[in-house]
Amino acid sequence: MPAAPGPVLPDLKRPARGKPGPRLVTVVASRRITPNMIRLTLTGPELADVRPKCEGANCKIFLPGAGQGRDDFARQLKDGPRPVVRTYTVRHWRPDVQELDVDFVDHGLEGPASAFANRARPGDFCGFAGPGPVKLSEFYADWYLVAADMSALPVAAAALEAMPRDARGVAVFEVTCAEDRQQIDAPEGIEQHWLVHPHPHRPSPAQEGMIRALDWPEGRVQTCVAGESGVIKALRGYLHQERGLARGDAYVSGYWKIGLVEDQHQQEKRRESA
Ligand SMILES: Cc1cc2nc3c(=O)[nH]c(=O)nc-3n(C[C@H](O)[C@H](O)[C@H](O)COP(=O)(O)OP(=O)(O)OC[C@H]3O[C@@H](n4cnc5c(N)ncnc54)[C@H](O)[C@@H]3O)c2cc1C
Repeated sequence: MPAAPGPVLPDLKRPARGKPGPRLVTVVASRRITPNMIRLTLTGPELADVRPKCEGANCKIFLPGAGQGRDDFARQLKDGPRPVVRTYTVRHWRPDVQELDVDFVDHGLEGPASAFANRARPGDFCGFAGPGPVKLSEFYADWYLVAADMSALPVAAAALEAMPRDARGVAVFEVTCAEDRQQIDAPEGIEQHWLVHPHPHRPSPAQEGMIRALDWPEGRVQTCVAGESGVIKALRGYLHQERGLARGDAYVSGYWKIGLVEDQHQQEKRRESA
């Protein structure tokens, strides 16, 4: 006999409020997609709840210590202390096979995340938290400005791929060598410029110079602008103060800063926005 309907209980399957904790993921593939960019493909059953279409959202990568075993790292992710964490971008998410690509700039072995990407081999592991919100998900502009250095290529590429196919605008990329240029499925009306700056640890005025020289269009403008903080600070000033770009139409974000490790850079950003 079917059970009589019971009282309405709270939906216990609904995820708890707040962010899910870091998940343990396994590296299934590591390949150099251009001379200075390493793509790690991550997978794991704990990714099952990652939502579709999260390309371009930021995420946190938790890094195991040198020689740390998988079980010990899994315990640390759960109980602390917090491992070294760095911020990255979901480049591709394939929910059908639960594979997620993250593109790491190879800027040497000094940074723990860049070093991890350099050394990672299939079977290695790390932690993954996120994804956060997609940076540019509504497209309503008459003209788009996209600007990115290598660290922001993943967010820029995801935004360009998601844009309406009749979008118009300009994308100004800055990469470490000519071979770091990537094929991006951008709308035909987005004019792409690829600048080369072989010394990313030295300031580069080239992107700002090119953007200032553009004929500023009539109509509504949206931006996806990210990269080294010094460049971004100059562009933020230009876009908001000189061009009057509305804050709500602009994604303009410093992704790293010459001479600072990520935690110092994040602290500086918090101080500046306080
Ligand atoms: C929202 C967001 C999304 C991001 N997405 C990506 C992404 O998808 N891919 C990506 O590669 N980066 C991305 N970044 C940037 C990344 O978080 C930083 O580059 C981070 O500092 C790398 O950590 P690390 O451990 O390698 O170096 P750290 O330990 O943080 O720094 C060590 C040294 O390396 C320098 N350094 C850091 N980054 C670079 C760089 N790109 N080029 C040259 N020198 C550098 C620092 O100034 C410092 O001197 C993103 C940042 C943010 C805020």
